[in-house]
Amino acid sequence: MTLDWISPADRLQALPPYVFARLDELKARAREQGLDLIDLGMGNPDGATPQPVVEAAIAAVQNSANHGYPPFEGTASFRKTITNWYRRRYNVELDPNSEALPLLGSKEGLTHLAIAYINPGDLVLVPSPAYPAHFRGPAIAGGKIHSIILKPENDWVIDLADIPDAVAEQAKILYFNYPSNPTGATAPREFFKDIVAFARKFQILLVHDLCYAELAFDGYEPTSLLEIPGGKEIGVEFHTLSKTYNMAGWRVGFVVGNSRIIQGLRTLKTNLDYGIFAAIQTAAETALQLPDRYLTEVQERYRTRRDFLINGLAELGWNVPKPLATMYLWVPCPPGIGSTDFALNVLQQTGVVVTPGNAFGIGGEGYVRVSLIADCDRLGEALRRLKQANIHF
Ligand SMILES: *Cc1c(COP(=O)(O)O)cnc(C)c1O
Repeated sequence: MTLDWISPADRLQALPPYVFARLDELKARAREQGLDLIDLGMGNPDGATPQPVVEAAIAAVQNSANHGYPPFEGTASFRKTITNWYRRRYNVELDPNSEALPLLGSKEGLTHLAIAYINPGDLVLVPSPAYPAHFRGPAIAGGKIHSIILKPENDWVIDLADIPDAVAEQAKILYFNYPSNPTGATAPREFFKDIVAFARKFQILLVHDLCYAELAFDGYEPTSLLEIPGGKEIGVEFHTLSKTYNMAGWRVGFVVGNSRIIQGLRTLKTNLDYGIFAAIQTAAETALQLPDRYLTEVQERYRTRRDFLINGLAELGWNVPKPLATMYLWVPCPPGIGSTDFALNVLQQTGVVVTPGNAFGIGGEGYVRVSLIADCDRLGEALRRLKQANIHF
């Protein structure tokens, strides 16, 4: 049986094409040939989870009280830890019962939020470039996506004036993300005030992805939507433990903010999953309560790599702006070459993997994203190879 009479549902067909296919194929071939790939393509942190978190998890796994189904809405203790963290970090008061919901990673929540709130045909505002879940979730839900094209001259911050009133009046949800993956851009506090006013005026739900809340450098402190007066009345904010605490494999994150918005997501999830293994929630609590030196260590690690790579690229003629946060450099391609071709060239000639900007939407064309997920020795090797292959501006 070939099953050629069966095809996936329309909602899968509606997904934008997967631009990594060619790159994945070339990566696999290079590996087969035994080539030494330097993979700076993924957003997968290369460090180990802090030891106290691992130890808390081991102890929690030993406790049979954790072996059954966890509560749907997350353990009371983890929710309380989340709201305490918000108070400490942002001076924002949240109700642990209705304004915080643990997630199986933030990607899960970002996507399911779209399914909980978007009807087929509903209009969703999404910047371009953006983290793929911000447009793929709404696409799966059947939403109509209006891309807000971000511009280098506006430092990749959304220009709300670019959204026509007629579009804003139709829109139901706006996804945004500062500090940003993939651009590394940060948005001033003033922008957060403007977007809250905009959302209130046009009655649009704000979904802010604050996954890089802690990966900031040079004294920069990212803004929470919920710190802004009125922010909690109109929006929610997503967090992950994946990046800050090197816990990407553990699958744990959370959403906080407006209780009514969170309720819809909770209802959907009650029908989909049973929540996070309680031992992992215990580990996540430990992570959120770690002394600041753990944070400083992670920040220093990425800051050092950022500076090393930016200086090295400058010697090759590349002028790359210094991001104040995230684990990415957003690098312009040489003139006259598309981002997919450029990424493929770099891979073929050097074995260095970078992500073509168009993977994040058409607004990312002309750029590649370089993840700071290798130590300076490896980054130095990547620079040597780029120089040898004569890849520069
Ligand atoms: C990495 C990343 C996520 C995914 O985080 P998980 O909690 O591991 O699912 C979400 N948003 C952005 C912007 C990211 O870069």
